[in-house]
Order: sequence, then C-alpha cells, then structure tokens
Amino acid sequence: MLSEVNSEDYCIEGKAYVNNDLIECSILISGEKISKISKVSNIDIKKIKIGKGSVILPAGIDLHVHFRDWNESYKETILSGSLAALAGGITTVLDMPNTKPPVNTIENLKKRYEDFKNKSKVDFGLHIKPSYEILRNNKINEYFAVKFYEEDLKALPNFEELLNDKKAVFHAQFGLDEVSAVNYVLEHSKKLNNIRFAHISRAESIELIESYRRKFEDKKVYIEVTPHHTFICIDDVANKPKGYSTVRPPLALRRDNEAIINAINVGKIDFIASDHAPHSLEEKLSENPPPGYPSIEVMYSIFLDSCFKGIIKLNKLIDCLCVYPARYLGIKKGIIREGYYADLVIFNFENDMVIDSSKFISKSKFSPFDGWKIKAKIETTIRRGKILFNNGEFYNLNYPSKNIIELIN
Ligand SMILES: [Zn+2]
Repeated sequence: MLSEVNSEDYCIEGKAYVNNDLIECSILISGEKISKISKVSNIDIKKIKIGKGSVILPAGIDLHVHFRDWNESYKETILSGSLAALAGGITTVLDMPNTKPPVNTIENLKKRYEDFKNKSKVDFGLHIKPSYEILRNNKINEYFAVKFYEEDLKALPNFEELLNDKKAVFHAQFGLDEVSAVNYVLEHSKKLNNIRFAHISRAESIELIESYRRKFEDKKVYIEVTPHHTFICIDDVANKPKGYSTVRPPLALRRDNEAIINAINVGKIDFIASDHAPHSLEEKLSENPPPGYPSIEVMYSIFLDSCFKGIIKLNKLIDCLCVYPARYLGIKKGIIREGYYADLVIFNFENDMVIDSSKFISKSKFSPFDGWKIKAKIETTIRRGKILFNNGEFYNLNYPSKNIIELIN
C-alpha cells in the first residue's frame, strides 16, 4: 500500500516522536520536507495510516560506516552498504577513508565522491585520512572530516596547525590500550576545536573525556559509541569462533557495557554509530579474522528494543542516533519538525524478530547479534520525502543521494 505513494504530497498518520514525545499526529510531507504537523488532517490528500503497533521516528544518521567497494567490493560496495542502511532505518552516513586504496589523495577523494554520488542510496559525507595534499588545498571541499587511525596518531602534532578549523575524528588505540590513546589525543589536540572520539569502549575513557570537557567548556569534544561495545562483552563471545571477538577496539567487560549504557542515559554520549565493518563470512570464520562487524541493518532496532525493555531512554537514543548527528553535520534532519527533511522510519513492535545475518542485505553475512530476539522491526524508511524501503522491498532507487555539503542550509 505504501509503495504506491509517489512524489506527490502525502500525509503519514499515527504515533510519531515529536517534541520529545510519542503523540498521535498527521505529518504532511511536501516534496523533500515536512511541511505541517497537526493533530488531524482534514485536507484532501493521500494518507498513509500506520497501525497501532507501529511508531514513526526520525531516520537514523550513522557517522561511522565502511562501505569498502573498490578493491574490497567482495566485502561490501557503496550500493550494497547503502541498501543495508535503508533496511536499517538509516538515511545518512559518513564513510570511512581506510578503503583500498585509501582516501588520502585528491584523486582518490574525488573518485570516492563521484562513486557515492552515482551509487549510494543514502545521503552521505566522507572522511579523509590525514593528508597534506588534501588539507593544504583550500579548493577541496568534498570531505567532511579527517580521520586518524592508530598508525596516524603520532603524526597528529604535525597536522595540528592545518586542522584547527576542521573536524577531526580519532580511532584512539595504542595496541590494546584505548585510555592512553585518548589521553594522548587530548594532550596533542589543543589547537583543534572540533574533535570526535570514534567507538569509545571503556568506562575510563568516558570519564577522562568528561573531565576534559568540564575543563575546556568552549571546545567541542564528542564521544561516539557502537552497538557492540554497548551490549556485548568479552564473556558473551568467549565460546564462539575468534571472529566474534575480533573488533577494534576489543570488546571490554560487562562493567564497561554498563558504563556506556549509563553514560547514554545521563547525556554523556553524543553519537551512536554502527562502525559497520563488513567482511566475508569466510574471512570472519578463518584462523586470522579481520576486525569488525556489519551492524548498520540492526543497530537502530537493537537500541530501540533496549528502550522497550527499559534499558536505554528513548529520548537519549533519538538524541544520539538522530538529533546530535544532524547537528554535528549541520543539516536539517534527525527531528520530526516542520521545515526539516522528511527522513523517517516506521517501526513495528508487535512481533518478535530474530536477528539472522544470513538474511542481511549487506554482503557481509555475519553478526555477533545473531539469534537476538528483538521487538523493533523496520517497516518503512523514507529519505527526503521518498519511500525507499517498505516491508522488505526497495522502491524509488533512482532517487539521487546528496552530499552533506548540498544539504547544509
Ligand atoms: Zn571503523
């Protein structure tokens, strides 16, 4: 029924997350944007009424994905990754630059940009690796932020000057140690004004960053966390093949899971991101598995289910997955509000759903969440007014994606 809706204006009616609350309302979508939110619609317009067991939430924004492609297209492509995103209720992503070859030259950056423009089914932004060639060229604006990996951290002092008006992102890890790397980054980023710690996994790291933020209130220092570091600890995967525990940073202790959940609920966490890191099943089940999990399809559902179970507060989930990422990107998404892009996801929570990675849209059929029984099934994903995913099928896939730069207004 929903799939029949085309580019005309239409209303979605039912329970929606508006002004930090779930309320019955009618959302009028005109073109790409939400033009009106009202109690009832009496205008003569195409209406989609959602069922009693469903809710309308802002679509998720995933600031940390690896859509691979290029020399690793057997793991994932921009197309397969972005379709997986839509199936997971995500309509905007930031792609990571450790591709093969890496995004560390102007040529590779322009190629990445063009490939996303041509192939991505979600809106996107790009990270680059620290690169003098790119950072010294003021005409280059195809990237959103600069991502430092472990091997780049020691070069941070050389880049400080070039980075002061840019957004920097850090994979803070020295060997197995996250806390000392967080400390190092905080010590060596005094000239930077906007830094984001990717996938923070340890209670001590959160405390360290928190005390730094209290000391330097004018600085923007963000904490991003992942679904696996929030919900899975080393004990949970102890009896499974090595690939289940192979991720960077490594899985931590139950007390770290609890610290992250608590930090989300008290507002110390800024972003929830999947760190969608696809590999082939053969690789993950091998003797020497590569790090990471493909979680973009299940992240939003897993977190929403935890809200239904009373573990995470719904308003904090929406803040970390929608509101704050949109603010960080500078785009009018992440909130169901008049004048904002109509990026929406409809969840149904009537029936249990069992996570089964063999059915993933992603090329990577592997998940540490396999077998989890959750109650938050994604029915429909809408990006800038267009229904792109509904009841397991994709629609309107020729609808072009936009770069963050085009969405900033
Ligand atoms: Zn990553």
